[in-house]
Amino acid sequence: MIVGEQKPVDEIREMIADYEKILVLGCNGCVAVCFAGGEREVKILASALRMTAKIAGDKKEITEGAVEKQCEWEFIESLKEQVEKCEAVVSIACGIGVQALAEKFPETPIFPGLNTSFMGMPLEAGVWAETCAACGECILDKTGGICPIARCAKNLLNGPCGGSQDGKCEVSPETPCAWELIYHRFKDRGRLGALEEIRPAKDWSKARDGGVRKIVREDLKL
Ligand code: SF4
Ligand code: SF4
Repeated sequence: MIVGEQKPVDEIREMIADYEKILVLGCNGCVAVCFAGGEREVKILASALRMTAKIAGDKKEITEGAVEKQCEWEFIESLKEQVEKCEAVVSIACGIGVQALAEKFPETPIFPGLNTSFMGMPLEAGVWAETCAACGECILDKTGGICPIARCAKNLLNGPCGGSQDGKCEVSPETPCAWELIYHRFKDRGRLGALEEIRPAKDWSKARDGGVRKIVREDLKL
């Protein structure tokens, strides 16, 4: 899922300083699961904005809303009336949701209330970690189901590097070395030989550096 963190209230207040009627809009998808941008967080942020405006003597009318997914046109469609009644929107969806709203309602300023952090999963209550960097050509079959692109600080495809110490990455004693994990995964399976296979170079043209990526499925087009 996409993991994000809410921006500090003061930063959001600065964004909306020139506007009076503000809609705080959440998304009940990924960002609700990580307690950053769902209906509950909308209520908390809207209350904080009302309270801080009152203390500062600013005139603000803060309304609230949330949709199942801010990144899909079908759901955004239903927001037309609510958006038209306000001067600006603070979206606490991920960056995809913010851009989708801005595309749908180009005349209304849409401000990001979240920092979209990464794609990952909860490790335990209150802790999320990045596990996939969307490289476009998954190699988890070759790395024992552990992603070295997202989980190795150097994105190495042939680690571990010389900085790996006692199972930890050189960037932090808290961070497991991804390649140590990969080694042990294969060792436990009795398949260490898999790490000796010579593989063709990874096709990085499908990764992020080539600009906006698209998937086009002719069989699904109308
Ligand atoms: S190899 Fe690529 S697609 Fe697969 S988990 Fe890692 S970053 Fe994601
Ligand atoms: S110590 Fe391990 S995880 Fe850290 S950069 Fe080197 S190979 Fe990657």
